[in-house]
Amino acid sequence: MRLSELKGIGPKTEELFSKVGVNSVEELKEYYPVHYDSYTEPQSIEDCRPGSKSAVSVTVTDSVSMYKAGKLTIVSLDVKDSTGKIRLVWYNSPFIRSVVKRGVTYVFRGNIVSKKGTICMEHPEIFSPGQYQSKLSTLNPVYGLTKGLTNNTVVKAIRSAFAATGGVPEYLPEQIAKTFDLMEEETAASYIHFPPDEESLMRARSRLAFDEFFLFILALRMLRQEEGNKSSDFRIPETWLTEDVIERLPFRLTNGQMNVWREIEQDLSSGRRMSRLIQGDVGSGKTIIAFLAMIMVASAGYQSVLMAPTEVLARQHYEKLLAMCREQGLDTVKPVLLTGSVTASERRKVLADIEAGHVNAIVGTHALIQSTVTYRNPALIITDEQHRFGVYQRQVLSERDQPPHMLVMSATPIPRTLGVIFYGDLDISILDELPARRLPIKNCVVGTSWRPNAMRFIKKEIEAGHQAYIVCPMIEPAEDLQAENVTEYTAKLRKQFPDIVIGCLHGRMKPAEKNAIMQSFAEGEISILVSTTVIEVGVDVPNATVMMIENAERFGLATLHQLRGRVGRSDLQSYCIFMAGVQSEETIRRLDILNHSNNGFEIAEKDYELRGPGDLLGIRQSGDAAFRIADISRDRDILKAAGELAAAVMHDDPALVLEEHDLLRLKMREYMHSDVRTIVL
Ligand code: ADP
Ligand code: MG
Repeated sequence: MRLSELKGIGPKTEELFSKVGVNSVEELKEYYPVHYDSYTEPQSIEDCRPGSKSAVSVTVTDSVSMYKAGKLTIVSLDVKDSTGKIRLVWYNSPFIRSVVKRGVTYVFRGNIVSKKGTICMEHPEIFSPGQYQSKLSTLNPVYGLTKGLTNNTVVKAIRSAFAATGGVPEYLPEQIAKTFDLMEEETAASYIHFPPDEESLMRARSRLAFDEFFLFILALRMLRQEEGNKSSDFRIPETWLTEDVIERLPFRLTNGQMNVWREIEQDLSSGRRMSRLIQGDVGSGKTIIAFLAMIMVASAGYQSVLMAPTEVLARQHYEKLLAMCREQGLDTVKPVLLTGSVTASERRKVLADIEAGHVNAIVGTHALIQSTVTYRNPALIITDEQHRFGVYQRQVLSERDQPPHMLVMSATPIPRTLGVIFYGDLDISILDELPARRLPIKNCVVGTSWRPNAMRFIKKEIEAGHQAYIVCPMIEPAEDLQAENVTEYTAKLRKQFPDIVIGCLHGRMKPAEKNAIMQSFAEGEISILVSTTVIEVGVDVPNATVMMIENAERFGLATLHQLRGRVGRSDLQSYCIFMAGVQSEETIRRLDILNHSNNGFEIAEKDYELRGPGDLLGIRQSGDAAFRIADISRDRDILKAAGELAAAVMHDDPALVLEEHDLLRLKMREYMHSDVRTIVL
């Protein structure tokens, strides 16, 4: 259903929503809050700490003053209680003068900052004590916004989305919902936006997390069942060629890489169908293993397919494979790249080459699974960073008369016991060793006042011939979100360092533009790349030695760890600077985990311990993230329950033909065919 079919949404608002990735009413309902704002009891002024959001209840005694600072009109008012004084400031809101009256008691609520030693409350909301009382302890959703799109607009739109689409029947049989103590789906879907209280929010969250896990696991199980018999027509003989390649590499494979490679070699040559997951922390060297497998398959005369979640990453893999084939003179391996952004004529040629079998090592993005691609004897499908692929995509690839071997590579650390719930009988190889001669990344967590030092440091690294990433959470400025954005950041930096070549990268650029920028960063033409998290996955530029992450408090630890993995990829000493925009104790404690560990698995565990099950943080904004709500380490109990249920359903009614499963069957069909769904691993 189109957004403009909702009351009050015109083409303009529709356009704004599309900027934040919401293109339909269905997507809108799943545009979950980033966090919730709760109204707490007013505090005494002395307890208002910079960096926090506070409310104070005071009687106004001073008069409001107004002045201009450049383009800004500032309204300010000093208020006091028995414990101290605080300055309230509003920007570009001259009408405040006639709103706030002397001698009247108000509750003011806003962010506390310290400005040249004066404690201020910025742009406070204004309530009568009675109004405030009725707001107390409600939870108000806060959404990811973009310029022109206000929180209020999102709230209204979501309310009318629910009003327009109500009455969806529960798809789980009543007995099951009872056994697992689940809130009704439709209630949960709306409570996640508008929770009546905290307990309801937690229950809503649990229900949605349960669904994410359950549908995913069930989908995989059903696919596995269809894939059926595990013998394979593709028996790939072992070859000396791969041994030679390994010998001629500029580095020695680690023992871990060697072991995993031997496992794969054995799988491919066994006559059994391979279904293997390689799990290895960022930088553990998974790509070379994929290449070796592709070489082995090529020399047996078959095709292999390597699928990456982003165009940037696909291109990078292709270039590396191509370079390796040239350097080593591997004539039997014929790589080709297929992504969404190749021109129509190029595309025709690539498709013809694939179909005729002129190429045999096919690298690309999800463009690889469109029905226009006809493979010739595809014996091996590798998916890199698989958590970004939908179940549907996997299904398309494996729906063949002669199912190919499957290899999945992931940096998402999940404990083996939980991996088994997801994958049942999938074989798991773990790469738990980083290549030798890697120096551990040096980390620091700092506040924004340290930024000049950080910039000096980055400049020194650049002068030494290295490169740097700076990551900002936003693409462009947003009205009520105080976070760095790449657009302004790049402009500022270019002014500050006219001699340094600075590039800018974000997800809303055209693919060709992104490629060009990534390419010139990889080739060292760009020294500093200011980017959003689009570089999170897989990008490998070993000469980059510094990463600075702005507003690090806005990212989950897992994301931060993945981001940091872009440096420390060679024998050069690398550094990661976590810049905290807000320095609450909790932020510092969380970031400190990264400071003390470079091990993804350990970080996930610690994060879980620290956050505890009652914490609301962790709803991910981006549809690119693994699961939207569920978190593998935090929700392991829910995961176990969902796994149990999936197993029971598969046991009792694997084809979902029982009447009680009618709605579940429909739900599954929809789930399997929506490639919008993204999954973990
Ligand atoms: P990831 O596991 O994160 O995908 P990559 O495969 O991209 O890691 O490898 C990271 C970097 O380490 C690459 O530049 C790669 O060439 C290099 N590398 C891989 N294996 C080794 C090794 N055994 N010794 C030294 N460098 C290696
Ligand atoms: Mg990788």
